[in-house]
Amino acid sequence: MSFLPYGRHSIDDDDIAAVAAVLRGDFLTTGPKVDEFEAAFARATGAEHAVVCNSGTAALHLAVLAQDLGPGDAAVVPTETFLATANVVRMTGAEVVFADVDADSGLLTSEGLQQAIDRARAAKLKPKFALPVHLGGQLCDMAALAAVAKANGMVLIEDACHSLGVPDVGATPHSVAACFSTHPVKAIATAEGGAVTTNDAAAAARMRRLRSHGMVRDAADFQNRDLAFQSNEPNPWYYEMQEIGWNYRIPDVLCALGISQLKKLEGFWRRRMAIAALYDRLLAPLAPVIRPVPHGARPHGWHLYAVLIDFKTLGATRKSVMEWLRARNVGTQVHYIPVHRQPYYRERYGVLDLPGADAYYSRCLSLPMFPLMSDADVAHVADVLAELAAGGVGQKQGSTGR
Ligand SMILES: *Cc1c(COP(=O)(O)O)cnc(C)c1O
Repeated sequence: MSFLPYGRHSIDDDDIAAVAAVLRGDFLTTGPKVDEFEAAFARATGAEHAVVCNSGTAALHLAVLAQDLGPGDAAVVPTETFLATANVVRMTGAEVVFADVDADSGLLTSEGLQQAIDRARAAKLKPKFALPVHLGGQLCDMAALAAVAKANGMVLIEDACHSLGVPDVGATPHSVAACFSTHPVKAIATAEGGAVTTNDAAAAARMRRLRSHGMVRDAADFQNRDLAFQSNEPNPWYYEMQEIGWNYRIPDVLCALGISQLKKLEGFWRRRMAIAALYDRLLAPLAPVIRPVPHGARPHGWHLYAVLIDFKTLGATRKSVMEWLRARNVGTQVHYIPVHRQPYYRERYGVLDLPGADAYYSRCLSLPMFPLMSDADVAHVADVLAELAAGGVGQKQGSTGR
């Protein structure tokens, strides 16, 4: 039995061939594969527009910039997420208002959102939007969050990095944009990469400009007419920058990989669902000490398969459990340390009381979950967890050893 990481990519020969074909061609970076990847990504998510870029973080940053976020502004971010969700808000100079999450699901709820908005108001901040995170792949109740947002004059931007592949995620009926990552542990891999989907054509055009230095190349948009035109004809070398932008371009080489991977997205997602169903069945006897993060009726991307562990009843620390599992080829990870506890944010915003996030964080552990896992792999993980629940770690740490 080889080591099972908590997540990994699935790359086939046809993915490799798609990359090799681009490497033999004329365009390594921006070329025809960018448009093709964007069209395929929009089709796959049901959005009108997809803007692809070189990371999920860049996708979030572009989406936030397209809402004109800047110094003096604020945005609500659930604290139970990856650093990037909060960091992109700070990258614009705006303030992060951390929201608490449900203690069992780790998801932002309408109550958590309202509390965060109230806390922001008390601090004389008026959040422009909230960034719900579909943690682990389970969708937030977007309709409920959208109702709270609307009542407070806000919009939603989805951090959908965990839920690519769930039908209609990215179609954004309740949000202005959804952001995705194509890092290898996510639903599809382009090494590094990301995308924003939106139904707002103007926002898509702006994000494409911001993706490449804020550079404008369409003559109809030029402002510096004296530099741009000669005899009413645009100068062939001319380009123009009207606002600050970045280099968030994703290379054609990686777009080719993304196009090839997208073709398999539904299959990947179906395999993840099958693995989750098998885990659910095999782990059921271990409740309540070890139990899956409860998942309700809403669709699930199964980026992660996380369990909640009652470490106190188990009589073991999470560190010892992770080490014990690792020694049995079971890789695990903790998603996530509440972001408001990071020294950078603690220094900026002080010590916050977000008990739902603390309760989730103190119990969660992500088990191996990726499409190439076999049923036997899942059974191995379940067996090892059963041994753990029966006192495995304690026995190992006991004076008799094993
Ligand atoms: C992976 C991830 C990101 C960042 O994506 P990168 O491609 O690594 O930049 C942001 N938010 C969440 C929830 C993620 O899981």
